[in-house]
Order: sequence, then structure tokens, then C-alpha cells
Amino acid sequence: MRTAEIRQRWLDYFEGRGHTVVPSAPLISPDPSTLFVIAGMVPFIPYMLGEQTAPWPRATSVQKCVRTLDIEEVGKTTRHGTFFQMNGNFSFGDYFKEGAITYAWELVTGSTADGGFGFDPETIWVTVYHDDDEAAALWKRIAGLPDERIQRRGMKDNYWSTGARGPAGPCSEIYVDRGPEYGAEGGPVVDEDRYIEIWNLVFMQYERGDGGGKEDFPILGELQQKNIDTGMGLERVAYLLQGVDNMYEIDEVFPVIQAAQELSGRRYGADRDDDVRMRVVADHVRSSLMLMGDGVTPSNEGRGYVLRRLLRRSVRAMRLLGVEDLALPTLLPVSKDAMSPSYPELAERFDRISTVAYAEEDAFRRTLAAGTTILDTAVRTVKTQAGGDAPSATPLLSGEQAFQLHDTYGFPIDLTLEMAAEQGVSVDETAFRSLMQAQRQRARADALAKRAGRADTAAYQELHSTLSSEKAGPVEFLGYTDT
Ligand code: ATP
Ligand code: MG
Ligand code: MG
Ligand code: MG
Repeated sequence: MRTAEIRQRWLDYFEGRGHTVVPSAPLISPDPSTLFVIAGMVPFIPYMLGEQTAPWPRATSVQKCVRTLDIEEVGKTTRHGTFFQMNGNFSFGDYFKEGAITYAWELVTGSTADGGFGFDPETIWVTVYHDDDEAAALWKRIAGLPDERIQRRGMKDNYWSTGARGPAGPCSEIYVDRGPEYGAEGGPVVDEDRYIEIWNLVFMQYERGDGGGKEDFPILGELQQKNIDTGMGLERVAYLLQGVDNMYEIDEVFPVIQAAQELSGRRYGADRDDDVRMRVVADHVRSSLMLMGDGVTPSNEGRGYVLRRLLRRSVRAMRLLGVEDLALPTLLPVSKDAMSPSYPELAERFDRISTVAYAEEDAFRRTLAAGTTILDTAVRTVKTQAGGDAPSATPLLSGEQAFQLHDTYGFPIDLTLEMAAEQGVSVDETAFRSLMQAQRQRARADALAKRAGRADTAAYQELHSTLSSEKAGPVEFLGYTDT
């Protein structure tokens, strides 16, 4: 089942059950506490918090999401993308636990001929919050799940709250067992690579008080309006239904891996490290495309920096695959073609997107050309030193070296960290940060001096004292009155 079809089945299923279909919001988060939309419920937060009345009692969406938190997992686990799509169904004071569990079970295990996803009920496991007996009983009654396939988990995994006064409540997660060839017996609490989490149901049930952070807070009572918020990973369902090993091999992502194979002349499936690199490329190219489609442009801070980092990581992964030539002009159109069926606006915006992306790759190649030799030399030196004096110590690149790479060659610290780590070298990040801090303070002092309407007199004073003490004899300092 193609990803676009799974998406459509989802929307049809919930629309047919009284949910209003709400189009995906852009990736740029409306909530100032995060850069990007990280879950399907983000656009609905004002309704969940009761700040606004929802215009509908039930809604459904397929929301574009970006989670930078998962960047290190990409390509290594089978299930984490930096960009992914979260299918959601939402109830604002309408149905609650029983309705949510009934819908989820019916859609997941319903036959494909009847619009369901057709998962074998025997492969389904769920988790519930440790004291949520109500949810456990519902899973038993509605789905007929045996006790051992209803596992209990604590607050860290199975509880939702914002961290402040407001709604909170237990979650229930749905997992698919991929079978013994993927790992150990015993359910998701034992092995989350074999048992793949596909869907999270959040039951907003209680009003929590202030204080106590995210894990240990007072419960003030039951909410007057109980809400349902769910999120199903579209790519996760897609890779399970398409019978491939991981989410980077689905129809919306794999074409980029194929293009990377052709460009590099290396075969996907032949070498573990190369496979991870190809998956990183496919993931990051797609995330970059989707971010640029929503108007993000590369820059040195905030969202633009995340985009820059994704683009640069894809280019570097291609280099590690042996590709020195420009890669994005081949890869980006492939990703666009794979994503356009669900996001036709990408084709319209592609001229602008590609111009920005290709310019970024070009600029980055110059950065790399300038700094890579310096970095490699420094890495070799510290490795020799570490090997010579104290063979057990991890070789460490100094803060000054990292700072020089940043200041002179435009290497952001992430790049230095990653490139050094590839060669088994750590970086003295603390020293680097304090050099950066000092530089910022100098810049601030300069700006203040300028804003005060006069030149930076420190330099004059320094010059003055040098001149007067060393070479030229007494000099009259005019810096306060003349420029
Ligand atoms: P995991 O434990 O696998 O990291 P999660 O518990 O962090 O997932 P949720 O926050 O519950 O995920 O998000 C709801 C659903 O979105 C998940 O059940 C999963 O199907 C999907 N999902 C979450 N993170 C990702 C990701 N990085 N890539 C693809 N799908 C994701
Ligand atoms: Mg996660
Ligand atoms: Mg989880
Ligand atoms: Mg979850």
C-alpha cells in the first residue's frame, strides 16, 4: 500500500466517523516554545488547553512534523526520521477512551477490503499507564487482547502533560510485532526494534496543578472537558505494510537512496556504514525539501540553522560515500517527485527551493575545501600525541583549534564535532564555548562603544601607551575630541 494511499485511508476512515478533515499546518511552529511542529496536536493546542472553543467536536489531520531531537537516530534505528507525517484524530470533549480505542483497533486490524490497514490482530501489543486499569480493561473487552500483550509503563513513557497547570493524562501506545527475526521476545518493554510503536493515544483526563515539573505534580481533579489526542506515524505504518525493513525504504523515501547508489556507485545493502549514510541522505534531503517548501531558508540561527545543518549533513554523507561532485541537483528533484503526489505545492515552489538548496551546497563545498585540510592535520596531530604520551587517553582537539576553524573557515562546531568524531577524536567543547563567549562579549563591547557615538577608545589607548612607552616618545592623545 503506497504511503499516499495509507494517508487517504486514514482521512476517509475518520471523516466517515464524523471528523472534520483539517489540512496540515506549515512546519513552522505556531507555539513559540518549539521551532517546528513536532506532533499533530500542536495546531490544536488552544482547543486542548481550553483557551479557545474548538470549531468542531472531532477533527482529523495528517500533519507534517520535524523532530530535530531524533537526528542522531536517523538511519540507525528503523523508525526515526527528522521529517515525518503524523496522522491524528482528535476529540474536543466528545468521545473519550472507549471511542479512541475502538477506532484504533478497527482501523489497524480492519480488512484492507473494508478500508482498514489489515494488520494481523495476533501481532498487536499495547502499553497503558501503570494505574490506568480503565484503558487496560477496554483493550481486553474491545480488542480481546490477552493480559500479557497489555503492558504497563510509567510516567516517562506513558503520560502526557505540558509541564504547567492544565490538562494532563495517561497514554496508550500500539505496537506491531515484526517477529522473532527482529529481536527478543517479551513485548515493547523488552525490545522496541522488534515491536514497532505505530500509534500513541493520549487521554487528556485530569487537571494538573503547577509545580513538580513534568513527572511529579499535583492532580487537581478530573477535567470538565476530556480530550483525545492521537498520533500515528504514517511512515511507520507504510514500512510495515510495504514489507520493507525500515522507514527509509518506503516509496516516498527510497528513490533518493537509489539515486545515491547511482551517484556513488556503491550498493545499498553491501556495507553497514554506507547503508546508514544513504538513509541519512534520503531522510535529510526530504526534510530539507519540506522545510524549504514551507519557506525556511538556510541561515546561522534558529530554523534556518537546522535546515543548513540538514543540507550540510546530506552533502557530507555523500562525500563519505565517495561523491565529490554536486549531489543535490540529482537528489532533490528525486525527493520532490516522490513527495509531490501528497504535496503538489512542492512542484510549484521547486524553482525557488532548488535555487536556494544548490547555492547552499556550493557555498558549503567552499567551506569544506578551505577547512578540511586544517581539521585533518589537527586531528592527525592530536592522535599522534595521544597515542605517543598516553595511549589510553581519547585524543582531544583543543578549544582554540575548534574556534579557529569556526572563526576563519566558517566551520560550525557541530561540523567540527562530527568530522572529528568520525576519526575517533573528541573536541574540548567547553573551551570552545568560552572562546565564543569571549568573542561575543568583545563584539558587544564594540557595538556599545559605537552606539555611544564614539570610536572604541580602548584601541587608541593601547596604541597610545605602546607609542609612548616604546618608540615614539610622548604623544598627545586626541581620540576623545578628534576622529
Ligand atoms: P519512539 O518511542 O519510537 O521514539 P515516540 O513515543 O517518541 O516514538 P510519539 O511522540 O508518541 O512518538 O509520536 C506519535 C507517533 O509518531 C509515534 O507512535 C510514531 O508512530 C510516530 N513518530 C514519532 N517520532 C517519529 C520519528 N522521528 N519518525 C517517524 N515517526 C515518528
Ligand atoms: Mg521518540
Ligand atoms: Mg515511544
Ligand atoms: Mg509514543
